[in-house]
Amino acid sequence: MRKIGLLGGMSWESTATYYKLINEGIRQSLGGLSSADILMRSLDFQTVVALQKADRWADAARLLGDAAQGLEAAGADCILICTNTMHLVADQVAASCDVPLIHIIGETAKTINGGGYRRPLLLATRYTMENGFYADHMRRYGLDVVVPGADDRMICHNAIFDELCQGVVSDAARQALIDMTARGRDQGADCVILGCTELGLSVDASCLPLPCFDSTHIHARAAVDFALAAPNQAAVLHFVTDGAYI
Ligand code: GLU
Repeated sequence: MRKIGLLGGMSWESTATYYKLINEGIRQSLGGLSSADILMRSLDFQTVVALQKADRWADAARLLGDAAQGLEAAGADCILICTNTMHLVADQVAASCDVPLIHIIGETAKTINGGGYRRPLLLATRYTMENGFYADHMRRYGLDVVVPGADDRMICHNAIFDELCQGVVSDAARQALIDMTARGRDQGADCVILGCTELGLSVDASCLPLPCFDSTHIHARAAVDFALAAPNQAAVLHFVTDGAYI
């Protein structure tokens, strides 16, 4: 089994979900007492958020790149950046190490394509919804991302940073996410991406009015598949190469 390298702590509330999902996936496949072989570097989220707010993405790229190198040096066979937002610097992180980076946007796009959907509504941080890197990456897979209006973007962003990343799950935020998904459906979206790794702590397919793709679940599943693939299989399974990524 290959070693999975997690760049976590962004926030740790969702990194805990990754840890659980990946271990559950390995147990489901191998049975018994099997569990994942994981190396984790959990960063101080306050430091990362300060860089985001100051628009210091080059410094953030260096921070994550150094952490990825540390995971590789410790024996990780792949790297996962356990946040959508920080995929803004995924190219730099991928370039900083030799092991493959399993890309959350690419994996999510492939899954949406597999379901036959074309116009996903993106719920995420404002960085992810407004910067363009997410929609641009999805376009490579033929997907036309729908972004909520300005008020909904602010509500979603605040629910992530002021509540979910701090362990607060409120009925008000859940209802707001449901309502903005309904508005996205009215704008022509045919599915919704939980494009922030904490959103699944609040909403899921059971309450949302559109078919739902949770980026955390998809990313964790891709890590399990990578860990279990035969040594020379990575390039041929569903890890279709995507530039520097698998
Ligand atoms: N975990 C979140 C995401 O998936 C937000 C935290 C961050 O800013 O990295 O985007």
